[in-house]
Amino acid sequence: MDLTFSDAEAQFRDELRAWFENNDPGPMPEGEDASYAWRRDWQRRLADDRYAAVHWPEQYGGRGATITQSAIFFEELGRARRPLPANVLGILLAGPTIMTFGTDEQKDRYLAPILTAEEIWCQGFSEPDAGSDLAALKTRAVRDPAHPDEWVVTGQKVWTSGAQHSKWCMLVARTDFDAPKHKGLTYFLMDMEQPGVQVRPLVQITGEPEFNELFIEGARIPDENVLGGVGNGWKVALTTLMNERSGLAFFLQVRLRQLLDELIEEAAERGLLDDPVVADKLGYLHMKAEILRLTAYRGLTTIEKYGTPGPEGSLTKWMWSETNQELAQFAADLIGPDALTNGNRWAYELLRSRGNTIEGGTTEILKNIVAERVLGLPRLKGAA
Ligand SMILES: Cc1cc2nc3c(=O)[nH]c(=O)nc-3n(C[C@H](O)[C@H](O)[C@H](O)COP(=O)(O)OP(=O)(O)OC[C@H]3O[C@@H](n4cnc5c(N)ncnc54)[C@H](O)[C@@H]3O)c2cc1C
Repeated sequence: MDLTFSDAEAQFRDELRAWFENNDPGPMPEGEDASYAWRRDWQRRLADDRYAAVHWPEQYGGRGATITQSAIFFEELGRARRPLPANVLGILLAGPTIMTFGTDEQKDRYLAPILTAEEIWCQGFSEPDAGSDLAALKTRAVRDPAHPDEWVVTGQKVWTSGAQHSKWCMLVARTDFDAPKHKGLTYFLMDMEQPGVQVRPLVQITGEPEFNELFIEGARIPDENVLGGVGNGWKVALTTLMNERSGLAFFLQVRLRQLLDELIEEAAERGLLDDPVVADKLGYLHMKAEILRLTAYRGLTTIEKYGTPGPEGSLTKWMWSETNQELAQFAADLIGPDALTNGNRWAYELLRSRGNTIEGGTTEILKNIVAERVLGLPRLKGAA
């Protein structure tokens, strides 16, 4: 494994650094709607210079970036302390899935507004009884006998991040009730702005309503909004999930490093760096952040070599989420009760980090993947 960058990659990094230096969105305004509008503006600025989705092909407004260049982009975005684009699920998940399975009409219709944040997307996969076991979902879509080219959808989704801002939803629903559970699913592009779709915010432990419950009662989806063919939903959904962690690992890894540096500064200001217990724990967190960085690079090498992600993606997600929790917990231990007062940024980090071990694949599921694919242990009986 060679972890050095080519001249072209180093030049790409330099270009990005210069661009981020010249493009500062300024401080994020307070309040959910204002901060979201600010992130939308930021995405438009990125899109104007084809930086909103560098990994998308040039014909769709990207830069046709390699997987390494895409990782460099996310590293530099984090390093410059710039935010993720508002339509991150559209850019990372919906766009690439539409490019893989979409018809020409679907690509023409949906890709451009994703890039400019004109149309925001959410991911309607999880349900109250089907999160890790996605194939167990119960939301139903049936053809309307009076309009055979239309589907009528009924069901409930949960944890739908960003649904309150979204125009479109990547919706997986059951369309064949007799087929085995993985085979009876279809992937739809559902218009959120219709009477049968109700979005109810769920307020998280941080006090933010980042995600929502989605109640779907008689929503209508035309045939032309089926993605990848009726009954092919499992395969299409797996493509979405494969894209979920792409590139983001590098952004998160850089942010973790920054958080650790801030914690070291905080410890120094409080005169705690001479305390051997503090120094020991900070050294340990530094080591974990470095292992994370190098494992993310190993994952990159696997994709470059074999074309598909290896189990490193599961390892980095697991390690990042647990290290982030440890770091936030240690900050709270170090600072004491002040860390938990409302408005203290460490309180936010501590509370938000709880969701990290659940979203995008729980730690237990990731451990199963590592057990089976890295350690070669037998598959868990009855596992999803
Ligand atoms: C902040 C946040 C944002 C999210 N955003 C979205 C979104 O935008 N769209 C969306 O569709 N979903 C979203 N989710 C949902 C997330 O993907 C699910 O919560 C996750 O997949 C787990 O599913 P579940 O909650 O149904 O838990 P379950 O699958 O019911 O699991 C419950 C517990 O059992 C464990 N478990 C389950 N199966 C196994 C097994 N086979 N072996 C060992 N342990 C197991 C799990 O690890 C977990 O600890 C979000 C979640 C969070 C926290």
